[in-house]
Amino acid sequence: MPIQAYASHSAKSALALFEYEPAPLRPHDVEVTISHCGVCHSDLHLLDGEWGGSYPMVCGHEVVGTITACGNAVDPSRMGQRVGIGWQRGACLACDYCLRGEENLCEANEATCNGHYGGFARAIRLDERFCHPLPNGLASETVAPLLCAGITVYAPLRRYQANAHTRVGVVGIGGLGHLALQFARAMGCHVTAFTTSERKAEEAQTLGAHQAVITTQAGALRRVSRTLDLLIVTVAADLNWYDYARTLRANGTMCFVGAASSTVNIPIGALVSRQWQITGGNIGGRALMREMLAFADTHRITAQTEVLPFHDVNTALDRLRQNDVRYRFVLAWD
Ligand code: NAP
Ligand code: ZN
Repeated sequence: MPIQAYASHSAKSALALFEYEPAPLRPHDVEVTISHCGVCHSDLHLLDGEWGGSYPMVCGHEVVGTITACGNAVDPSRMGQRVGIGWQRGACLACDYCLRGEENLCEANEATCNGHYGGFARAIRLDERFCHPLPNGLASETVAPLLCAGITVYAPLRRYQANAHTRVGVVGIGGLGHLALQFARAMGCHVTAFTTSERKAEEAQTLGAHQAVITTQAGALRRVSRTLDLLIVTVAADLNWYDYARTLRANGTMCFVGAASSTVNIPIGALVSRQWQITGGNIGGRALMREMLAFADTHRITAQTEVLPFHDVNTALDRLRQNDVRYRFVLAWD
């Protein structure tokens, strides 16, 4: 049976209905019938031709659905299970990184919708070991964004041991950022939101921020200089990163998760004297994904979503391009 999807046929073109014949199920593959898929800014980078890729391109990598077919090595009890799929759909599962639970760093890692047909579709086939069981307490339309946006911000919070003594800043309150505020608050951190939007600055308090900095106001960053231990940067724009680094205390960490195309230009003298760590984050491994979902369930962390039918995918993409979403679009089949 062909799989119906929404595909783009060239950079920046509108998505249109498309059908493809799926590959036969390998022993560890499952077919997941999709109910929901979040719309991540990485989909936009791909669809706008910024990251290469081939056409027809079917994006979508915050997928929720139900296992409806299993390869012969899959435990048949997985049939009917509700699962989530994030950015990653495969890895070698044998290298040092995979064995340490860092499948996201595996040289053979495979992306759900780059080089494969992704989740803007009725169904998807992939390795069952990258289909994450979802806690019953998390509704499909609000858990979907946790599968990429959620894990991407949860991972640095855990890696840098955020706790009640950590002062965390989050730059960019979009899909990733609004979840980062919630996770950091639930970990007991003191939380500062950095946003270009006055309205989001107000909303940030309800998402867990203790304070918000409106970055377009003159002198805003200077008012919080040398206050933060961990700054998570989710924006894809090219900003003056040294200005942001100066919000860190000594030994502070600035972790980029947004895919900005700029270079980080920070004087070495500042790194030496302040002992800053400037780092990046690339989603997270499978064990951390499971932990993040359980943490979200326990702490009632959900994405704030605007649910649209799949046939409105182009509206969702256009509005995301214009930063007009609170805080994540999730597409649903009728
Ligand atoms: P998003 O929902 O569009 O949020 C990005 C936010 O950045 C916006 O809401 C906005 O926040 C801020 N922003 C946008 N333009 C800006 C500008 N010119 N100056 C300052 N701030 C600006 O995007 P997302 O889905 O959260 O994704 C964010 C980035 O993370 C993308 O580059 C995406 O590809 C990347 N990503 C990386 C990973 C990873 O593994 N590293 C995983 C997923 C996504 P305010 O309105 O609050 O200013
Ligand atoms: Zn994503």
